[in-house]
Amino acid sequence: MSSIELQAVEKWFGEVQVIKGVDLKIDEGEFIIFVGPSGCGKSTLLRMIAGLEETSRGKIFVGDRDATAEPPSKRGLAMVFQSYALYPHMSVRDNVGFALKAAGEPKEVIKEKVDEAARVLKLEDYMDRRPKDLSGGQRQRVAIGRSIVRDPTAFLFDEPLSNLDAALRVEMRYELAKLHRSLKSTMIYVTHDQVEAMTLADRIVVLEAGKIAQVGSPKELYERPGNLFVAQFIGSPK
Ligand code: ADP
Ligand code: MG
Repeated sequence: MSSIELQAVEKWFGEVQVIKGVDLKIDEGEFIIFVGPSGCGKSTLLRMIAGLEETSRGKIFVGDRDATAEPPSKRGLAMVFQSYALYPHMSVRDNVGFALKAAGEPKEVIKEKVDEAARVLKLEDYMDRRPKDLSGGQRQRVAIGRSIVRDPTAFLFDEPLSNLDAALRVEMRYELAKLHRSLKSTMIYVTHDQVEAMTLADRIVVLEAGKIAQVGSPKELYERPGNLFVAQFIGSPK
């Protein structure tokens, strides 16, 4: 069973079509990465899966459910926003537990889930700090922690490392790979960085002007690019 499926998905902004019929099955537990140049529609496609952007045509399934018309809160997916979306006046503990508190979960449940997230994300020593007293990488982990506690069907990331410096980007890449191995959850990840895609993805979806140019494992795309666009995009060293 695929955990998320897109069927003939299109997006129009007025008269302009930016997503041009995308079919894709994403397996449960898969780390799938959308790559492509700026403006090709990566963020729009991710936002449609999240429900933050309406789907003009086609369908989006989450598990067996047709989620096309569901609001974001009903889809059970977690969009991980950049670290600057943390609440500055709250401790790490309160940031991570915020969604559970807002949902009226009992205190003990919140504590248990927040402690578990802290353990998985190695945030135990920082739980009483405010975001401003954390490094960029730690903030990023707190941002992920806020989603983990809700046991999402999938995590959605839009260029989560793009604001970080080069060294931290490499470190976070490693952290994300580790996180995926330990959580075993579906991750849908957008980047324009080929290296990031090649090192993290189970499968890469190459988007070209709102269409899928090719889908495959990093190895498949590298060894057998379907067209010149894919070859140039995947093959060009950074
Ligand atoms: P990417 O994330 O790959 O850089 P986007 O999904 O952000 O690309 O954008 C795809 C195309 O859709 C671009 O041409 C962009 O200008 C256009 N677009 C995105 N959002 C809107 C919007 N709200 N209204 C009109 N056009 C938009
Ligand atoms: Mg984008």
